[in-house]
Amino acid sequence: MKRILLLFLAVSMLLMTGCASKQSTPATKKVQVAVSIYPLAEFVRAVGGEKVQVNTLVPAGVEAHSYELSATDMKTITQAQVFVYNGGGMESWADKVEQSLKDKPVKILQAGKGLFVKLDEEHQHDEHKDEHKHEEHKHEAGHVHDHGGFDPHVWLDPVLASKQVAAISETLQAADPTNKEYYQKNAAAYQAELNKLDQEFKAMRAQAKQDAFVTTHSAFGSLAKRYDLHQIAIMGITPNVEPTPQALANLINLVKKEQIKYIFFEELVSPKVAQTIAAEAGVKTLVLNPVEGLTKAQQEKKVTYLELMRQNIANLKIALENK
Ligand code: ZN
Repeated sequence: MKRILLLFLAVSMLLMTGCASKQSTPATKKVQVAVSIYPLAEFVRAVGGEKVQVNTLVPAGVEAHSYELSATDMKTITQAQVFVYNGGGMESWADKVEQSLKDKPVKILQAGKGLFVKLDEEHQHDEHKDEHKHEEHKHEAGHVHDHGGFDPHVWLDPVLASKQVAAISETLQAADPTNKEYYQKNAAAYQAELNKLDQEFKAMRAQAKQDAFVTTHSAFGSLAKRYDLHQIAIMGITPNVEPTPQALANLINLVKKEQIKYIFFEELVSPKVAQTIAAEAGVKTLVLNPVEGLTKAQQEKKVTYLELMRQNIANLKIALENK
């Protein structure tokens, strides 16, 4: 009897809290936010909480760079109050969207604006600077370093990610001034998490004996610069151009010379090239996630940006602890 009473109490309490949360934020009143890619959607959810409805355009399981905007996406954007995208070439379709939103009341935020880190020659290993001088041709046929380009993968540097969160907070406050303090509070709490993440990256870096790492595409330029690491990318800023046989041979030599122990691959891009290089150089492979999107399984598990970044720290630690 006691047990039944307890059960009844528990159920009625659940019902009551259910009603309460429904009453305080009716679905229709939520700020509709269309967001291009997963990491920014995470930041908008963190800041917007229960006051926003986030619609992510690039679906789970799809590699973000190669995504093409659909007519449905366009409708989602035009019907939203806020549209958040990264910019810097991350969304090839962004200019077209900005054009068609010209006369619409949608608030647009380019969350990467002013935060794109220049990929310069400095991220190359000093040791191969001579090599490059002697063999200039290697440059074109060789591994891609994206000289002079800007890295659009802003969110992979927790310090820059924190600035993106600030920009998102300001945009939400402008779109929904009634909840200004709510957004400010949430943003500050999430920025504290990003600060912790930054500390964890620093701790990993302090222990590292190796400072070079091989990635599938050139997504980790901002991260490498922040923590004084050297990214060697198999492909360019977008993961769609496979390296030439000459470039592959150069990479394999570089891996051996630099005593690199692991080749990183990504879950949303074929690991074939990374596996080939690893096999030829006699080293292992590990995941380094550019956190551009989730796999469908990760989406079902509601994996967070912070979790994926901590997996990156753990795998970087393994890859960089020996030379
Ligand atoms: Zn990318």
